[in-house]
Amino acid sequence: MMIELQEITKKYGSKVVLDDISEKIETGEFFVILGPSGAGKSTLLKIMAGIEKPDKGRIIVDGKDITNLPPEKRNIAMVFQNYALYPNMTVYDNIAFPLKMKHIKKEEIDKKVKRVAELLKISDILNMPVTRISGGQQQRVALARAIVREPSFYLLDEPLSNLDARVRLIARGELKRIQKELNGTFIYVTHDQKEAMSLADRIAVLHEGKFEQVGKPDELYEFP
Ligand code: ADP
Ligand code: ADP
Repeated sequence: MMIELQEITKKYGSKVVLDDISEKIETGEFFVILGPSGAGKSTLLKIMAGIEKPDKGRIIVDGKDITNLPPEKRNIAMVFQNYALYPNMTVYDNIAFPLKMKHIKKEEIDKKVKRVAELLKISDILNMPVTRISGGQQQRVALARAIVREPSFYLLDEPLSNLDARVRLIARGELKRIQKELNGTFIYVTHDQKEAMSLADRIAVLHEGKFEQVGKPDELYEFP
């Protein structure tokens, strides 16, 4: 779905973390927010997720103002650096969990879990406890659990940064493939310029509370 950030401003004490940010993110776009640690990337994602309130500004999704909606009414999915999987469950139960919470029928859940497992190429590990699978596999499970909710958009906070370099390269390619296949609207935060360049349809460079540059990877002239 299309997301509009309008004049988003956030202060912590006297520190202005986000300073009047406005931007439109198109349906099916892979939008990367690039900036160093402390730039305010997570704060912006939290505001989109509804976990933090902006001091000023609005978030519009497909024409609807969601600024005052609580997180559970926003139909978003978040994927984190540490995956946040449920450690005592199998891969299958981790993916099924958000659907069980919505009281969807067992057969329906089963269909959805198997479909998303195929998309992420984890069908063969569905019965494994998540503590027994590799980091790369855990990352796929986290993404599967997000996708199965059929969210309006995806918020990804450095989801690949805990993977070793070789696995990270593979995961990048996979993530891009899946995003295209879903035609998902992905908002992806990273401090890694190469990662931003390889994934993004557009990159926004977050610097001193503002999107200092926004453009296609080959249009950007300078990085922080
Ligand atoms: P990034 O994700 O780019 O590393 P953050 O959004 O986590 O940046 O943080 C941006 C700035 O806001 C940092 O200076 C951080 O210390 C500060 N900050 C984040 N959350 C809070 C909070 N709850 N209270 C006070 N300061 C915060
Ligand atoms: P629910 O009981 O609806 O599954 P959770 O306790 O998982 O809710 O999280 C509450 C809300 O916070 C969710 O509805 C969602 O908007 C957001 N949220 C928290 N964690 C995630 C996640 N891993 N993926 C997507 N959304 C999440």
